[in-house]
Amino acid sequence: MTRILLLGGTGDALQVARALHAVDVYSLAGIGKVPVDLTCAVRVGGFGGAQGLQAYLAHQRIGLLIDATHPFAARISANAAQACRDAAIPYWALRRAPWQPQADDRWQMVDSWQQIVAALTLYRRPLFTLGREPLAHLDEIPSDQYWVVRCLEAHAGDARASVIGARGPFTIDGERALFDRYDIDVIVTKNSGGSATAAKLDVARERGLPVVMTRRPELPPADREFDGPAALLQVLRELKPHYRAAR
Ligand code: NAP
Repeated sequence: MTRILLLGGTGDALQVARALHAVDVYSLAGIGKVPVDLTCAVRVGGFGGAQGLQAYLAHQRIGLLIDATHPFAARISANAAQACRDAAIPYWALRRAPWQPQADDRWQMVDSWQQIVAALTLYRRPLFTLGREPLAHLDEIPSDQYWVVRCLEAHAGDARASVIGARGPFTIDGERALFDRYDIDVIVTKNSGGSATAAKLDVARERGLPVVMTRRPELPPADREFDGPAALLQVLRELKPHYRAAR
């Protein structure tokens, strides 16, 4: 039986992990919650780069690696593709399609923190949904701005920033209330794709607000790529008929 190593840390990955077997392994970096109700083994923490991962693949006799990490987790994806090449095992990837701007959207595409700062000079009340990065810049907030940062960690914020610790999915009503409460005039986000965190873009569209959108990093090509857990589980079931349906 092919032993699977699933690299996770996303809701999509967890859906796939729930269908894995006791011989398979679900791997997390260790920055979020660790599920305790899975049938498969769960391991937590880095491998020590591509070489460390290759050694792990050999030692654990892994026959297939599935990369279901977040599309902005580019380092682990590059390491995983390299390790699979060196170990001569298949590298599959679960990658949600990126969000696409619609007719009324006002997106400005950026690639770096410096570009974000430059894009915000016209605005006063940004909502950041980028992860932790803005927390490193709280002491650089321009005097005419008030920041709202939503990320996984709770944080005290400061006199000119509120930090909201929250995990999606987010509803459109909840996002409307958040925008109203903080008088948001621009969103700063990254192109994660998927439906769990897309409601903020719907609210920006209905209010005609601009979106500063970070482009995805370049990711390594995969031997097989899937755009959602259901498609991946379908193929896994064909390989091993007893894999359960996605929940
Ligand atoms: P990253 O920059 O690509 O990875 C940093 C290092 O963390 C990797 O080199 C690796 O350490 C370790 N690592 C990452 N994912 C791992 C996994 N699933 N299992 C074991 N080790 C892992 O990743 P990141 O952007 O810091 O994200 C870390 C984790 O959070 C990822 O698993 C990702 O799926 C999840 N996540 C990220 C984002 C995001 O926006 N970046 C959003 C939601 C969830 P070694 O080199 O020592 O192996």
